Amino acid sequence: MAKKRILTGDRPTGSLHLGHYVGTLANRVRLQDEYEVFLLVADYHALTRTTDKEHVVATRQFSRGLVMDLLAAGIDPEKTTIYLQSDVPSVCELHLLFSMLTTVPRLERVPSLKDVMDAEHIENPTYGLLGYPVLQAADILHVKGNLVPVGKDQESHIEVTRELARRFNFLYGEVFPEPDALIGEVPTLPGTDGTAKMSKSLNNAIYLSDDAKTVEQKVRGMYTDPARIRADIPGNPDGNPVFAYHDAFNPNKAEVEELKDRYRNGKVGDVEVKKKLAVALNNFLEPMRERRAKYSARPNIANEILAAGAAKVRPISQETLEQAREAMGLGRVSEQ
Ligand code: ATP
Ligand code: MG
Repeated sequence: MAKKRILTGDRPTGSLHLGHYVGTLANRVRLQDEYEVFLLVADYHALTRTTDKEHVVATRQFSRGLVMDLLAAGIDPEKTTIYLQSDVPSVCELHLLFSMLTTVPRLERVPSLKDVMDAEHIENPTYGLLGYPVLQAADILHVKGNLVPVGKDQESHIEVTRELARRFNFLYGEVFPEPDALIGEVPTLPGTDGTAKMSKSLNNAIYLSDDAKTVEQKVRGMYTDPARIRADIPGNPDGNPVFAYHDAFNPNKAEVEELKDRYRNGKVGDVEVKKKLAVALNNFLEPMRERRAKYSARPNIANEILAAGAAKVRPISQETLEQAREAMGLGRVSEQ
């Protein structure tokens, strides 16, 4: 039996960080053998941020960097297909068809829209930003993706995808699967500054590409329980990002429990808790550094991977699009 498919992706707007890892990357790496995995570098989705020429040009460099981050994280290019969204233009045609099957108020209710508008100080969303989840639905469904590993913030987008698949199938006959979201073990990793989400744009991220010294520095500067001005004051590990990271990345659970215990009882200083975290994070990142160094020996590898990925996805996408058009009664007139 053919393997089920995974499709998910990232916007090339910066480097991947620990939040991406626990939210979605870990699942992608884990499921590479069980599923046929497609990873998209969402350069069209990156345009929802700004359309300044300088920014648009920068997405090219970020796209190559993203491929290197994925390889470092453990994505095997022999197993997984990585491609650039704009290299497969038939997805735009599917996006147009889907855009007729949902409404503006429905998209205005997607919670991440408000979050992005707040975070990026956008007063009026563009047509494209409103359509972000519709394009995402086309991304997932043009390869007939069954499973979508994403962070918690994207769950509502997958709901839009499911609705569009249902609506299309109801109106025109069964063409699309109804994919499931797969949320990571840590649905949303907080930022080093204690805000709810680690994010490229909030300057509160530890990157997969950070070197050991940078990790130590960032951890030293992390937000902790603000009520705790001395080590002998009892502290609260809950809602404390230092302990959230210990929980997510320190495999020595006994050490973490012991630190929490001493923290609650005012028997450990922040310095020790942070030092142990920096060690755990660097142990976690070290294999990624080694893989990155290995792949970097091939300077053109990112371009090669993206070119091979596009060549593989184009016919799959085109076939789905033709099926959808046929089902709608929009078979190509030129071919009749
Ligand atoms: P950033 O906010 O850092 O720019 P992003 O959310 O814009 O990141 P995307 O490319 O939109 O980055 O998201 C890539 C994937 O990573 C999505 O599945 C998203 O849910 C997930 N993700 C991003 N940040 C986190 C986080 N802090 N915790 C868990 N998952 C996350
Ligand atoms: Mg996002």
